[in-house]
Amino acid sequence: MISIIIPTYNEEENVGQLIAEIDAVLANDNIEAEVIFVDDGSTDGSWQKIIDMAANDDRIRGVRFRRNFGKAAALSAGIAKARGDIIITMDADLQDNPKEIPHLLAKIDEGYDVVSGWKKIRHDPWHKVMPSRIFNWFIGKICGPPLHDHNCGLKCYKAEALREVTLYGELHRFITVLTYMRGFRVTEIPVEHRPRIHGTSKYGVKRFLKGLLDLITVRFLTGYGQRPQHAFGAVGSIAFVFGLAGMIYLAVLWLTGVRPIGTRPILMYSVVALLFGAQLASVGILAELFTSYNMSAGTARFYSISDEID
Ligand code: UDP
Ligand code: MG
Repeated sequence: MISIIIPTYNEEENVGQLIAEIDAVLANDNIEAEVIFVDDGSTDGSWQKIIDMAANDDRIRGVRFRRNFGKAAALSAGIAKARGDIIITMDADLQDNPKEIPHLLAKIDEGYDVVSGWKKIRHDPWHKVMPSRIFNWFIGKICGPPLHDHNCGLKCYKAEALREVTLYGELHRFITVLTYMRGFRVTEIPVEHRPRIHGTSKYGVKRFLKGLLDLITVRFLTGYGQRPQHAFGAVGSIAFVFGLAGMIYLAVLWLTGVRPIGTRPILMYSVVALLFGAQLASVGILAELFTSYNMSAGTARFYSISDEID
């Protein structure tokens, strides 16, 4: 069975048609599925629509948040509720076409763990498309996987891959990265993208900056999450060595009678470098302490197992 998870925030005009389209695809391809709507604190009639649809169709399930918690939280709640071995996520706004579901499933059958939609021809305003291009290119360069489109709402997963990543904040943009970094096989296929007809987009240009900041977080978490001191300590030591070299140089000058040294700019640089280095190293130790507690609590599994023999 597959689970289709649909984060929904003020999409009352869209959910009805969406379920009709999904239903047609499922019937046509004989796919057994459940559809989970996660109402992310809608203030319009979305939840009532979901209740009505669920009353007529027992494949439809729903979760409703007390207020708006964001798409990452909505996806998390849907994943927790899902009973299928394969999970599909799609937006509620009809921009994703349910006709792509069989194509996504075919890729999973080929052995991939994560199949991301690629909005090859996008129907969004340029001020969303441009930043998004840069963002996607950046991700490919910084941590991979090298996909064209990381932030497509339409994606398909083996449930086990999705269960290993924790989505919070706005990390839903990085599911491809987070799963890839855990060793899952991630790929993409071009999918149809349609213009939004009803309702409004919930994300503006602001998300570009947030996305870049999150990219730093994700890069750090996936690269140094288990060994923060390697990042802090490395930069700290370099600064410290420069500072120390400056100080030794000044000491030699002093001892050989080249005085005064108190007004030399290099004195200032060296002191700052020493302090900066020491500061970074101690932040690194704190981060290590935190990591060590986290690891011994055993809540985070930092490795990922694909097969086992008992
Ligand atoms: N969404 C959500 N919570 C939010 C914002 C958006 O569940 O806080 C849902 C929204 O209803 C839609 C999907 O996430 O189904 C994508 O949102 P939107 O279409 O506004 O994003 P865009 O396509 O403009 O990037
Ligand atoms: Mg949309």
